[in-house]
Amino acid sequence: MSRYTGPSCKKCQKVSQKMFLKGTKCFTNCLVDRQKAVKEKRFTSGPRNKMSDYGKHLREKQIARLTAQIGEAQFKRFFNKASKDKGQTGVALLRFLEVRLDNIVRRLGFAVSLKAARQLVNHGHIKVNGRCVSIPSCLLKPGDEVGIDPKTAETVLVRQGLEHAEKTAQRPSFLTWDTATKTGKMVRWPDRAESSISVDEQLIVEFYSK
Ligand code: ZN
Repeated sequence: MSRYTGPSCKKCQKVSQKMFLKGTKCFTNCLVDRQKAVKEKRFTSGPRNKMSDYGKHLREKQIARLTAQIGEAQFKRFFNKASKDKGQTGVALLRFLEVRLDNIVRRLGFAVSLKAARQLVNHGHIKVNGRCVSIPSCLLKPGDEVGIDPKTAETVLVRQGLEHAEKTAQRPSFLTWDTATKTGKMVRWPDRAESSISVDEQLIVEFYSK
């Protein structure tokens, strides 16, 4: 699978929304801010370049896909899985994207960005229910416990991530955290409001329902 390696905030700029692909860069140095400043300078009234419905649907799909940092094919597989869910397809899609192992690793604080979280998983540093799992797209379910290799837990990056998570108290309540064992547990499915992806999921459903 191909992976985009260029400047992350070019992607933010493309959809005019900060996606925090590098974890922190969007706070201080995102191209979206520059884009906004330029727009405000123009003194133009009324919307420019009115977007078509298709454009709006596509943009929402791209924001979700880019924030989750997965390819088109994998995103479509997630969508198909969500469409078989009993609940609303859009909500199910966001839930599946949320409980991917790499995202849970990030939300627990083992890494500050999804990219870094994925690397931890890929390199075999992450354990699910005591067993090493190296597939970032693996979906977790309530009851699953996520831990880290003790040696890796002492590395600077992981320690910084965990400290940051403590300081900002940013762990969502569908996850519990045990400081002593550095283990997190998913205690229930995340709610719609707890999704890390800010999109109108209904527009994504419309994108695929043509
Ligand atoms: Zn950005």
